[in-house]
Parts: sequence; structure tokens; C-alpha cells
Amino acid sequence: MGIAENILTVKKTIQDGVELIAISKTKSAREIMEAYQAGQRHFGENKAQELSGKFEELPKDIVWHMVGHLQTNKVKTIAPFVSLIHSVDSMKLLRVIEKEGRKNQRVVPCLLQLHIAEEDTKFGLSLEECIEILQGEDFRNMKHTEIKGVMGMATFTTNQDQVKREFRELNRSFHLLKEKFFSAQPSFREISMGMSDDYSIAMEEGSTMVRVGSAIFGRRNYG
Ligand SMILES: *Cc1c(COP(=O)(O)O)cnc(C)c1O
Repeated sequence: MGIAENILTVKKTIQDGVELIAISKTKSAREIMEAYQAGQRHFGENKAQELSGKFEELPKDIVWHMVGHLQTNKVKTIAPFVSLIHSVDSMKLLRVIEKEGRKNQRVVPCLLQLHIAEEDTKFGLSLEECIEILQGEDFRNMKHTEIKGVMGMATFTTNQDQVKREFRELNRSFHLLKEKFFSAQPSFREISMGMSDDYSIAMEEGSTMVRVGSAIFGRRNYG
């Protein structure tokens, strides 16, 4: 099956109110355009350089998401245009995003990435670290970043019960943070969870954004 058919097939399985983000890392502009022509507008990348290159090259009505670990020295390449950074995993990174947002005279929408997986290889904050950031005066003075929710990646496992548990935990953290810090901010509403192999489980557990790569574009050679 081709990319256009894959988009339509995946879309049929996406619940109302859930945003499908096509993860196009390592894929060419031509492959992205196939998805674009099938109506897809939200795309995500995991490397800042690749993201800004594709932004330059591709139609300007594409909504670009940064989903991978972001080094502070790369923030400036994406700050002018990125529509959501899913992977805020430190106060240091948030400060740099704030600075680059100010330079670009815009508010950069962000999600806090929580570590929910069993492996310790994945990036992310603990719930306690999120609370610490959100309680801080530094954060409360920020005017060029907006925290719109949370993101997480489940353990890479065939154990569906474990994946379900981890997504449920992320959902619980989301609600706790919402109640504690964002009860007056309706825009704190996103839970970015679910990839090609687990997005159905993620939607059952309350996901509002699914990040689907290989189910749309086929297998990657790397990345
Ligand atoms: C690659 C990637 C995805 C998509 O993974 P697939 O299994 O190909 O759907 C989702 N989220 C992040 C952060 C990724 O790096």
C-alpha cells in the first residue's frame, strides 16, 4: 500500500477529537507530499535540523511538531515556526525556548515530556520534577512559552497491559497537573501519547494526539 492509502486507513481508526500527527523523520519531501496530498497537515520530526529544512522546502500550511529530544543549541532553528514542542524535558530547555520565543516575538506552545517507560533510556521528567518547574517563579514569569499538556512514550514491549498502565499513569499525571496549576487555563488540554503500535491503547486511555510514523510511511532505515 502507498502512503496516501495508509493515511486514509489510519485516519479511519482515529477517534473524534484526536489529532493525527504523521511522524515523517527520515522521510523525503516527496513522501511527505504524498501524505499532504491525501489531506494530512500535521507532521512531526525528531531532529531540529531536519525539521527546519523540511519547513523551508514544504508548503507553509503544514503544522510542524517537534517530538524528539531537543538540544538547547538547536532551539533557535525551530523557534520561529514550530507549532508545538512535545519534548520539553528540563527547566534549562524551557528557559532557552522562552528566550527564543521572545526574540521571535511569539509564544511557543510546549508539552512537558514525562518519563513513563520502564527503560531508563528514554528522556523525560518525573511528575515531581514537573511540579518543581511549574511551582517556580522562573516559570510563572515566562511570557513566550505556553504549556499545553504532556507527552510520553510507553515501554517498547509486546506486553499490552504494561503499555496500558503507563498511558493511564500519564493521563493521571496530566489531570493532577491540570488541577494543581492549570485549572484556569483551558488550553492545557493535550495528552500526546501513542505511536504506530500502541495508538489504539493510547486513545482508550485518553490521548488527544497520536504520533504515527511507520504505519503511514512504512519502515524506516534508521532513526
Ligand atoms: C519515531 C517517533 C514516533 C513514531 O514512531 P512509529 O513507531 O514509527 O509510529 C513517535 N514519537 C516519537 C517521539 C518518535 O521519535
